[in-house]
Amino acid sequence: MSKQTHSFQAEVAQLLHLVTHALYSNKEIFLRELVSNASDACDKLRFEALNNTALYEDQPQLEVRVSFDQDARTLTIADNGIGMSQQEAIDHLGTIAKSGTKDFMRKLSGDQQSDAQLIGQFGVGFYSGYIVADKITVESRRAGLPAEEGVRWVSGGTGDFEVEQITRAQRGTSVTLHLREDAEEYLNAWKLKQIIGKYSDHISLPILMEKEEWKDGELLVPGDENGGRQPGGMVKTGEWETVNQASALWTRPKKDISEAQYQEFYRAISHDSESPLTWAHNRVEGNTEYTQLLFIPAKAPFDLWNRDKKTGVKLYVKRVFIMDDAEALLPSYLRFVKGVIDSADLPLNVSRELLQESRDVKLIREGSTKRVLSMLEDLAKHDQHPAAVDAAAADADGAAADAVTDVVSEDDKAKEGKYSQFYAEFGAVLKEGLGEDFANRERLAKLLRFASTTSDAATVSFADYKARMKPGQETIYYITADTLAAAKNSPQLEVFKKKGIEVLLMTDRVDEWALNYLTEFDGTPLQSVAKGAVDLGDLQDEAEKKAAEEAAETFKPLLAKLKEALKDKADDVRVTTRLVDSPACLVVKDDAMSNQLARLLKQAGQ
Ligand code: ADP
Ligand code: MG
Repeated sequence: MSKQTHSFQAEVAQLLHLVTHALYSNKEIFLRELVSNASDACDKLRFEALNNTALYEDQPQLEVRVSFDQDARTLTIADNGIGMSQQEAIDHLGTIAKSGTKDFMRKLSGDQQSDAQLIGQFGVGFYSGYIVADKITVESRRAGLPAEEGVRWVSGGTGDFEVEQITRAQRGTSVTLHLREDAEEYLNAWKLKQIIGKYSDHISLPILMEKEEWKDGELLVPGDENGGRQPGGMVKTGEWETVNQASALWTRPKKDISEAQYQEFYRAISHDSESPLTWAHNRVEGNTEYTQLLFIPAKAPFDLWNRDKKTGVKLYVKRVFIMDDAEALLPSYLRFVKGVIDSADLPLNVSRELLQESRDVKLIREGSTKRVLSMLEDLAKHDQHPAAVDAAAADADGAAADAVTDVVSEDDKAKEGKYSQFYAEFGAVLKEGLGEDFANRERLAKLLRFASTTSDAATVSFADYKARMKPGQETIYYITADTLAAAKNSPQLEVFKKKGIEVLLMTDRVDEWALNYLTEFDGTPLQSVAKGAVDLGDLQDEAEKKAAEEAAETFKPLLAKLKEALKDKADDVRVTTRLVDSPACLVVKDDAMSNQLARLLKQAGQ
């Protein structure tokens, strides 16, 4: 293959422009992105080599080397991982293969901090090299291909890139950044080590840098120490040293891990620039042995509602990376959770298909689900809602049956207010669990919060509601609507308002669907006030009941006429006690879809 010029995909060109301009205030992240690519490439090699050890060639020790050349003003990140073929270099470094790129472009706000976060989430990390470089040269050879099938990829990061075939004995990839004039600060070993320590300490393979030592300057007058010297400086020794901890963070004892390290690890695996709300780090020993390090983010990612969105848990087996987004490890309603699960029992060659059937995975999934629910219960307990405290406390013994050691959590004070923060971001997703996870339905129901006729904020739990029920009230009443205002002004609420009976106001799109799966809470039935003949039971006094019966009798002829007139439109017409000011309202039959659900399905084109 002779030298070819290719154009970047339009989105890449746009992105490059953005990267070089918008991310300027957070320059150093480029190193994190490139080291993380190098580490991914080593993980991929290790994984492919499980079935083909020849891929290691004569270099079984995987590593990343970071070096720089002050005179040439270049910085190089080299790995001996899987490498790229010529076609892979063209495909992976010239396009954004992932779907949703347009979506990404639309989400850009112009705010540097949040745009930087988006870039991370989209995994367009390689292009961040152009924050500090005006030209990048990538040389690579894929493991298993002959030396002559290497590739050189060069681009100034504007419209196009060049690729040509090269001979490269060394397997893997080297990325050389030709630094901009104002990025010379990265030609400094101390500075580089500092950034690596900050972002890449937890990376489980060694990151090496060439050792430097101080060398005095030459004597200005040879032989005469008093004649003065030229300034000294650091010189390279030719010897390489490991500059990161190089041990997977989750395998270290928790006492050796600082809060800052947990947070940095979270940021690295989640591409989130914010700190997580909370996390749990456990070694579970029992029917199956594994380590879990699970984080609850503080902010929802922009693609939380994307139906293809996978869970954010990485699967390792005995410290070997197996796959990202292992959806079998957590139910989909917990897809906001990020973290790592490292199993001691799964086979190394486990595939996604095998995962679905594995007994060990089933146990891990149950244990991890319970762990996440316990974390949420713990946050809820500290969120200063008296009834919520009871609900969470009642569940404290519901944790995983497996023996658990090493639980990490922040001190109680720091947890205040976090549950409402969590709930505002992820509450609606959690509700999906009512339909998805029958085994944990009761625990989930305790974690739900709603607005009500006494609270505009979504802070009322079923337990709070029950504690405030009127004497004689035997039902938890709720209404679903598109907005809080619509719910509050619904004519169906009139009699409840008059009698001072609290009604939960549900305005999330999933409420209607989710509530189909929850018919009672703690022995008390749930009833939609927009369904059937709402029976107020003992909440009505004798006079009211009598008046209602009399009215039904008196208006019989009128009802018959109305029924006849509406016969294609309404199933039934009846006298009601639920209205106070409005003359009439629409309700659906008990067993029918509610108005709200019918509207939803219509919107979805069903
Ligand atoms: P992501 O890492 O999220 O996939 P990047 O923009 O960081 O996105 O990298 C794009 C792709 O380029 C990677 O998925 C990978 O296929 C390829 N790539 C980047 N760096 C390397 C490397 N050091 N070795 C092998 N492939 C690489
Ligand atoms: Mg990357």
